[in-house]
Amino acid sequence: MKEIIIIGVTGSIGTQTLEIVRMYPDLFKVVGVSCNSQIDSFNKIIKEFSPKYIYVANENARRNCSACGALMLNSLEELVAVPEGQIVVTAIVGVAGLSPTIAAINCGKDIALANKETLVAGGEIVMSLAREKKVNIFPVDSEHSAIWQCMEYGRATDVKGIILTASGGSFRGKSRDDLAEVTIDDALCHPTWSMGKKVTIDSATLMNKGLEVIEAMHLFNISIDNIDVVIHRESIIHSLVTYNDNSVMAELSNPDMVLPIQLALSYPAKLPSRVAPLDLVSIANLSFEKPDLDAFRCLSIARECGRKGGLFPAVMNGANEIAVQEFLSGRIGFLDIASLVQSTLDAFGGGKVTCIEDIMAADLSARKIITSLIK
Ligand code: NAD
Ligand code: MG
Repeated sequence: MKEIIIIGVTGSIGTQTLEIVRMYPDLFKVVGVSCNSQIDSFNKIIKEFSPKYIYVANENARRNCSACGALMLNSLEELVAVPEGQIVVTAIVGVAGLSPTIAAINCGKDIALANKETLVAGGEIVMSLAREKKVNIFPVDSEHSAIWQCMEYGRATDVKGIILTASGGSFRGKSRDDLAEVTIDDALCHPTWSMGKKVTIDSATLMNKGLEVIEAMHLFNISIDNIDVVIHRESIIHSLVTYNDNSVMAELSNPDMVLPIQLALSYPAKLPSRVAPLDLVSIANLSFEKPDLDAFRCLSIARECGRKGGLFPAVMNGANEIAVQEFLSGRIGFLDIASLVQSTLDAFGGGKVTCIEDIMAADLSARKIITSLIK
């Protein structure tokens, strides 16, 4: 029986993790869960799964939490550090996932990493700490799970590069002029995946793919120049690995996050899942296109930050989190997201990362800079 802690249990990744636990009650037990503010669904989850430990970030929501015998802890860091739980699913969104992930690694717990912002902001620190503590970081992002599988779970040699596939998001095929007119509802309407709002907007700007390029660079210790991105509208090939002899390995399935989440929990076993068999004849065609870097500038911005390293990726991420939030509240337009993130980076002086405090300070200063730019 594997004991699981899920931070961000009420979200898209969190609730799909619970579906796997529901399907395999003899294999997995939920011992700890957290959420921000969706207290009604949190209360239902506690009732159904009886975790021993809980944490609610939002104070008002915490007052309305019916603990049902569970122990309410004081922070995410405390939640991931309880004696129970071999693996922590980071289903929380944003850089808020960084510090609890570090705390979990420090306790020797494996990580099922959904929260990509963790490696974007703190990739070097997190990966070297994981190596030091001999902790596994199992990718949950579908592209990274695909790469991990195509690399024989990290054992492969002679790897030449990675090709990340991208659905293209809600605005695939649109020009820069088209993008000036789009609405929040248009942006939230993703063609192939149903996800939380932040990652859906990131998919629409292609910042999501940029974050994933940086995530892949850290996870697989590969130069950013050997990571390509291709638009693949069907979302059937989840990513590919190229080898020195120019052979290519790909992982294919119907798009469903249950597969990568489940593999991160059950590795090395591949258990039966809810996902329908892949019917290649009915799919018939798979298509590939170049990303439009003029319309979707966030991808180039992220590549540049990944290449520069240091605190730049953390600053980009912090600025992007605010920009997405401001777009979702209707205060800025869609194209402003990329231009405000770029202006924030231009105003930031750079700097070295020596500890997590440096990263959190850079994140905070990015948030301040972009907020003043918006005003
Ligand atoms: P979501 O918005 O649906 O859920 C986020 C969860 O985090 C919620 O439970 C929320 O209560 C909690 N949370 C948010 N802010 C918090 C804070 N400050 N403190 C404590 N808890 C907080 O998000 P999601 O779509 O499930 O995505 C989660 C992460 O997984 C993101 O980093 C995303 O990029 C990544 N991811 C998601 C998908 C997907 O299909 N949804 C796919 C790949 C990667
Ligand atoms: Mg992804």
